[in-house]
Amino acid sequence: MSTITELLHAIPADPHTGAIAVPIYQTSTFVQDAPGVNKGYDYARSNNPTRATLEQLVAGLEKGAAAYAFSSGLAAIDAVVKLLQAGDEIIAVDDIYGGAFRLFDKVYKKFGVTVHYVDTTDAGNVAAAFTPNTKLVWLETPTNPTLKISDIHAIAKLAKAHGALLCVDNTFASPVLQQPLTLGADLVVHSATKYLGGHSDIIAGIVVAKDKAIGDEIKFYQNATGAILGPFDSFLLIRGLETLHLRVRQHSQNAQAVAEFLQQHPLVDKVFYPGLPSHPHHALAKRQAKGFGGVVSFTLKTDTVDAATTLVCSTQYFKLAESLGGVKSLLCHPASMTHKSIPDAIRLANGVANSLVRLSVGLEETEDLIADLQQALEKVAVKRPQLSEQEPLEPALAL
Ligand SMILES: *Cc1c(COP(=O)(O)O)cnc(C)c1O
Repeated sequence: MSTITELLHAIPADPHTGAIAVPIYQTSTFVQDAPGVNKGYDYARSNNPTRATLEQLVAGLEKGAAAYAFSSGLAAIDAVVKLLQAGDEIIAVDDIYGGAFRLFDKVYKKFGVTVHYVDTTDAGNVAAAFTPNTKLVWLETPTNPTLKISDIHAIAKLAKAHGALLCVDNTFASPVLQQPLTLGADLVVHSATKYLGGHSDIIAGIVVAKDKAIGDEIKFYQNATGAILGPFDSFLLIRGLETLHLRVRQHSQNAQAVAEFLQQHPLVDKVFYPGLPSHPHHALAKRQAKGFGGVVSFTLKTDTVDAATTLVCSTQYFKLAESLGGVKSLLCHPASMTHKSIPDAIRLANGVANSLVRLSVGLEETEDLIADLQQALEKVAVKRPQLSEQEPLEPALAL
């Protein structure tokens, strides 16, 4: 299932009524004809028709054998880690989502699962980190918020050679741009809260398995631990998927334009976006994905928390909020928001500078978003400390 046509027509009309929208089966249980004789559903934690339709659609989008929907992205990640047991080891991307780090470090460590963090942008670092106990390799690509890219195909080969599973958190790319299972990964997880849902109105997670046997194990943990996605949220997620291709295409187009605008702006220092030829992994990003996504990060020449704070409080369309992937543009300041709990030295070593701002570029008109950033940067220029000691400003920016 690669095109929007295939997706839209994989959504079945309701067999009982002909309803073209997927019905919300808001029920906890299902009446049985005789003990154990039912219509395929017995209890809604185990299975629900609205959720089942969603799961089939996402499995199709990611080219997997099966998908399972969870109550959050973290619950989906948690289900994958449950495939392991005490003594097993994980090799994980060092620039990992903070919530996944907390889950590994504060929950699974005490159950005897060890995690080795490496810079996975160099597959050689991954190769060097395997031990006989390595059971899982965990990638995010692009990463958050510095948009680093790792080579899924090369790392999948390494994982296979060592008898470990490869799981890719595909939240930032979405299956429209990148399909890790076709590049050799065994599992994909999503925070469906982001692009899959797309409207900033649900918290949801998905696990997709390439093989049925691993999918069955995930299904076992979904039912055994119970963090399922409810029917109404499953309905909203299906509704989000209907426009996924269109949204991701426009998010990427807007983000590319915003990144190019920022790159030539005199107050901007670095721009992190895989779609820029200056990005260190641009060629790899081009090879393994069909586009570069809607997240852009950048730093300011005045690399201070104050300068970034002025900027993030000065935009009109980019709303200050955590999260990403919705129709409305958002921005955040990782050093004081999403990455606040990370010690300064580690945060800075990972490239998350004091002034780094992360944009989730939405679906507004491109020129409105650029104008919004332009006027916010002018506010930063006005507030810049010791103006006379720094390089002269463009007349237009000096106001
Ligand atoms: C948001 C996010 C998660 C966590 O998902 P929730 O739905 O918030 O639980 C995991 N991975 C990435 C890359 C994310 O951006």
